[in-house]
Amino acid sequence: MKVEFLDYICHKNRVLETIKKPIMGWVCTYTPVEIIIAAGFHPYRIIPSTDPSLANSYLDSNFCPYVRSCLGEVLGKESEYADNLIIVNSCDAMRRLYDAWRHYVQGTFIYLLDLPRDNSAKDIQYYQDNLQSLIDGLEEKFKIKISEDSLYQAISVCNKTRELLAELFDLYINEKVSLSAVEFLQIVKGSMSFPQEEYNGLLKKFVKGVKIEDKILSDDSQIENKSKILITGTIMDDLSIAEVIEDYGGKIVFVDMCTGNRYFQNQIPLKTSKKINNNPLRLLAEYYLSKTPCPRMMNLEKRWEYLLKIIKENQVKGVIFYNLKFCDTSFFELPIIRERLQKHKIPSLCLEGEFTSSTSGRIKTRIQAFLEVLEFAG
Ligand code: SF4
Repeated sequence: MKVEFLDYICHKNRVLETIKKPIMGWVCTYTPVEIIIAAGFHPYRIIPSTDPSLANSYLDSNFCPYVRSCLGEVLGKESEYADNLIIVNSCDAMRRLYDAWRHYVQGTFIYLLDLPRDNSAKDIQYYQDNLQSLIDGLEEKFKIKISEDSLYQAISVCNKTRELLAELFDLYINEKVSLSAVEFLQIVKGSMSFPQEEYNGLLKKFVKGVKIEDKILSDDSQIENKSKILITGTIMDDLSIAEVIEDYGGKIVFVDMCTGNRYFQNQIPLKTSKKINNNPLRLLAEYYLSKTPCPRMMNLEKRWEYLLKIIKENQVKGVIFYNLKFCDTSFFELPIIRERLQKHKIPSLCLEGEFTSSTSGRIKTRIQAFLEVLEFAG
């Protein structure tokens, strides 16, 4: 069961082959995929595997490697998702990607969605208005009508994905099923590109099947002996980082990244909210701006409170920062968070990612050494 499911979701091109609807690419998890689904498109998160340097003659080489890899993946090539793309104005790199995409890739619908940095009432209203502008843009460009019902339907489909991922994470974290962090993160990644309803069906079957197959493992002792690790950063391009941590006896108890736990935290409280204010755009604006902030939201105190809560709840022994090179937003908070961790006697390790598909030997050695320190620290 597990092997078949993972084999099915890990074949990237299989996704693009199976999709029948027009594709709308997206890059940042502040993109309301519910609107893409309600508009009749297939939301496809671009997580490229192209060497970022391929875009160096279009974007400066000291630019975020994720952004350069996204552009490099479509330059001069036919690609199903190059034509329609929503870019959230999450950082300078994303703005430049928007400019470069419009200039070099062109496409039919390339949209920059502005995102406030906090979630005050004014910010929520502002984001709600931006979501309305996005809908107006889609309706006008594609001569479609996006109804409230289709938005509510899309919200419940996405809620289901979050619910299933959260359930699977709970089984993983309590070692109730034999699932590695790498496998779990592959499943999260699959949920960002496969057709949502199809994926929910597959995932539901998988969660049910893996429970039966593993007959709910009961031996808790394994968890106790492992060093519990929190990984934090923006986007995890290369899952072998997680593999190395597990190979050297670490247990990843939380992945504070947009390719990890931040993607499926919480749900839109559809039932209650629908009665209070029946405006789905309000629900979306409130949800996306109130979910766990990424470093880009510049809300350091909120991020620290949240990280400390995870550390305490999961008895985290060590924190690994995995930041992509040149990602100003994550490096902005790094020294401050590290200093506070030190005060709480929580060792931390900072790794820089280059968005290339291989983890260097140097990084592996550093992870190994870090886990040994944690082990001896007892
Ligand atoms: S990784 Fe950092 S620099 Fe790159 S797109 Fe995300 S927030 Fe921006």
